[in-house]
Amino acid sequence: MTEAYLNAPDEHIDWIKSIPFIAVHLLAAGAFFFDFGWQEVVLCLSLYYVRMFFITAGYHRYFAHRSYKMGRVMQFLMAVGGSLATQKGVLWWAGHHRHHHRYSDQPEDVHSPRRGLFWSHVGWILCNKYDETPWDNIKDFARFPELRWLNRFHLVPPVLLAVGLFLVGGWSWLFWGYFLSTVLLWHGTFTINSLMHVWGRRRYVTTDTSRNSMLLALITCGEGWHNNHHYYQSTANQGFFWWEIDLSYYVLKAMSRVGLVKDLRTPSEAVLKRNRIADGHHDVGLLGPLQEKVAEGAARARAAAGKLVDGAARPVTTAD
Ligand SMILES: [Zn+2]
Ligand SMILES: [Zn+2]
Repeated sequence: MTEAYLNAPDEHIDWIKSIPFIAVHLLAAGAFFFDFGWQEVVLCLSLYYVRMFFITAGYHRYFAHRSYKMGRVMQFLMAVGGSLATQKGVLWWAGHHRHHHRYSDQPEDVHSPRRGLFWSHVGWILCNKYDETPWDNIKDFARFPELRWLNRFHLVPPVLLAVGLFLVGGWSWLFWGYFLSTVLLWHGTFTINSLMHVWGRRRYVTTDTSRNSMLLALITCGEGWHNNHHYYQSTANQGFFWWEIDLSYYVLKAMSRVGLVKDLRTPSEAVLKRNRIADGHHDVGLLGPLQEKVAEGAARARAAAGKLVDGAARPVTTAD
């Protein structure tokens, strides 16, 4: 790992702030102390997959990437569904995700696994530095007051879900349907930031380390086709071929049939065929260290040529 990928001094885990996150994990383990049967297991998995759909189809493919369209009421409902996953507010989530695509696996990428697998999985969420919504990255959706409200009070939907589960099914429903299901859902989602940049196969040339995996696609409603997605981000489907199972896209397709969503974007034939590694294109993604050397060499060459190097162009203030 080069210097550029080492965490800054303000990027350390705040264990006090992380207490609720750790507590939910302990409560999830508590699920096994209750009498449970098929009903609890089915409840846990159903709430896992329903909420995974809202995260992948809503938070990710709609709010971060605008890969299809829907009306204002549907948009709000999709954001409420995503909030049930307890992964912070919709504008926070989508704003940070846009940043990830802009700087994938570059030193600026806040959750590149090149800073360590643990950091990319949960470390970056448990430090304080990225707590705020990156408003500049999400101006298009921040103009909706209902989304700003939900982004601020993002815990309202999951708390109502947890209370509802308790009232209907008692303690075992609360522990299986909320705590255990939510912890599984968290780690299922986080694997996209961690494992999907180190494990799996690459089909397309990208400047990052993204990969494809059927197993991860089954766990995450289609997000496991992450190399496809980094190659071509603006599509509603991430499984590009018939055998690439993409549950979120199938549901979106069904929703578009009945008019709930529209204009699902898909890749053209030309896009599918272009830039395939199998066709012999040079792939920098697998050669990260080489890529860094090239970037460092280019920076040195720019400096030697008497031009401004990165960061030197900003105005000098007294704070400097
Ligand atoms: Zn994305
Ligand atoms: Zn990625």
